[in-house]
Amino acid sequence: MAQKKKIIIGNWKMNPVSVTEATDIFKKIQKGAVGTKAQVVICPPYIYIDALARHNKSDTVLLGAQNLNAEPAGARTGEISGDLLKQFGLSYVILGHSERRELGETDAAVNTKILAALAWKFKPVLCIGEKARDDDGNYLGFIKNQIEQALLGVKKEQLGQLVIAYEPVWAIGAATAMTPSSVHEMVLFIRKTLFELYKTRTISTPIIYGGSVKPENAEAIMNEGEAGGLLIGRQSLDPAAFSAIITIASSLS
Ligand code: PEP
Repeated sequence: MAQKKKIIIGNWKMNPVSVTEATDIFKKIQKGAVGTKAQVVICPPYIYIDALARHNKSDTVLLGAQNLNAEPAGARTGEISGDLLKQFGLSYVILGHSERRELGETDAAVNTKILAALAWKFKPVLCIGEKARDDDGNYLGFIKNQIEQALLGVKKEQLGQLVIAYEPVWAIGAATAMTPSSVHEMVLFIRKTLFELYKTRTISTPIIYGGSVKPENAEAIMNEGEAGGLLIGRQSLDPAAFSAIITIASSLS
């Protein structure tokens, strides 16, 4: 069974272009989330985290990061470590997003970051997903391998601290999302993979879906698809659309 409280994560990527706009969008999302039963998380660009954290006095909307460097400090030009992020009270960190993997981030690097994020007591949002599908089902082996590599050294007791975001790369930034029945198949496949790895049925890792989610498809993806929540790109910058998705998630939580 999927966990009850749905997790709705907004990944703002390299948007919006000003701190004023970021604050405005964030305040509207906070308003839209008042009283929600879902867990809402916004992952803005690093440079906006401080300003948004100052506007965030409750846990209704949590802040997260889009990446981190596994080293605590030192000579890493342009990088941000968990130690640096901790001071802003962040809870979640997206790791292994396909756009970072496209820049050369390997499974081994993602694994190092997952272990570091867990040690820093963040909730890592591990992104996995195939670039394309094939008729022979090889993409399933690809997903299984991504999970196995990313979770090397992660203990059974740490699984509840982790979120897995299944994001088929072909559905990110696309016109349509994956069908709810295919999402369901993948949620079951990921659960089965975790079961094989950890040999326990009591795995509490939420498995969420990302890829062209909008208010029109959110309910079916979480209900029929049994996704434990959603990772949302474009629509997380549109407060009306994002708030509508939060309302749907709350009704399912
Ligand atoms: C993403 O990049 O993680 C994503 C899901 O984007 P979008 O919602 O825009 O497809």
